[in-house]
Amino acid sequence: NNVYEVVGLTKVYENKKVANEEISFSVAQGEVVGVLGPNGAGKSTLIKQMVGHVSPTAGEIRLFGVDVVKRADLIPQYVGYYAQRPAALDALTGYEAIYCTGRLRGMSRAAAKRETDRLIEQLDLGEVRKREIRKMSGGQQRMVGFATVLIGELPVLILDEPTNELDPERRRQLWDLLAEKNRREGTTILLVTHNVLEAEQVVDKVAVIDHGKLLAYDTVRKLKQQV
Ligand code: ADP
Ligand code: ADP
Repeated sequence: NNVYEVVGLTKVYENKKVANEEISFSVAQGEVVGVLGPNGAGKSTLIKQMVGHVSPTAGEIRLFGVDVVKRADLIPQYVGYYAQRPAALDALTGYEAIYCTGRLRGMSRAAAKRETDRLIEQLDLGEVRKREIRKMSGGQQRMVGFATVLIGELPVLILDEPTNELDPERRRQLWDLLAEKNRREGTTILLVTHNVLEAEQVVDKVAVIDHGKLLAYDTVRKLKQQV
């Protein structure tokens, strides 16, 4: 029942920088995994390979048993990925961005509309419903981007530093929503964060990355016992 299986994943960029070295781990259905480590450790590189945005130099990535190094095109059917604001959606309004993403994921017009309204309500985005993304504040863009990840009930969500630029109340809202989604839909979630406190409240397991290597992969409780 593994969602992801990563084996010996290695990424060497064109400038010879070894960003990931022999990383192996698996993520089970319904787990919430935090990816922790200092700046430049290789967290984004790992995530970008898992969502098919960066191709591995060596190693394997299986998603629901499918070799997605060969078939990266299949990844978006299963995985919602959010890193920065969705630049491609810049000219759309908040409503349009969320609705269109739902439609792209195969929702009917009625379902996409219903779900968009619900997310706007739930994430308190009424103010930017009719505002173009490029005219929103950084925090508003993040929240809309976040809504585009949530629409469509994808089985896996991968979020790279989702709470950057958010005030404490928005952060809490976001963590609550993720926790609820995990509980209700069994959504498997990976999130990059260097806020250990936040991570501790949401995640089941932590992958600690440093200098491109996976130093530890265990539950928060077990990791604390080792310190
Ligand atoms: P993190 O997300 O942990 O901050 P990254 O995965 O972004 O780390 O980067 C890991 C290392 O790889 C860093 O030294 C970074 O400068 C380097 N790096 C990232 N992307 C590239 C790239 N496209 N080309 C060359 N080096 C890169
Ligand atoms: P992120 O951590 O989200 O990748 P960064 O600001 O580290 O954001 O990097 C922005 C872009 O520049 C990314 O596409 C990354 O792959 C690339 N990049 C990062 N470090 C380097 C580097 N040393 N050489 C070349 N490209 C890099």
